[in-house]
Amino acid sequence: MPSHDIEQLYRDVIMDNYKNPHNKGLLHQIGYTPIHMNNPSCGDDMNVEVKIENGVITDIRQDGHGCSICCSSASVMSETLKGKTLEEAQKIIDAFYQMIQANPISEEMEEALGEAIAYTGVSQFPARIKCATLSWKACEKAISEEENK
Ligand code: ZN
Repeated sequence: MPSHDIEQLYRDVIMDNYKNPHNKGLLHQIGYTPIHMNNPSCGDDMNVEVKIENGVITDIRQDGHGCSICCSSASVMSETLKGKTLEEAQKIIDAFYQMIQANPISEEMEEALGEAIAYTGVSQFPARIKCATLSWKACEKAISEEENK
């Protein structure tokens, strides 16, 4: 595929997740770890709820407001990490951080990232990296809280 087609595909993924976000809306239920994070430089404000059972992320909810990169990324994050073990999820989160800093990642991790690959272009815009990673950091914090229980 010519690279401009790939860029268009990536833009479509971001806009689809912005307009039709997955797992949006908080549940405020027992069993979910709530994490709030914000990114004052852009005005992004994100809440994430992560449900972890027997070492597996069984549900992720997200709600917040901010730019299209931040809000769409929260949707993609929730879809990408749901159903993963804590160890798998942490590996995928690390790969996302590497990718977004334009560092090489393995083919295996590219596959595991799935739609989240669409954010690879953000590496060219350092000011937007915080937007793209905000919800991923929130989920990472929920994982570390669970592991430190
Ligand atoms: Zn932002």
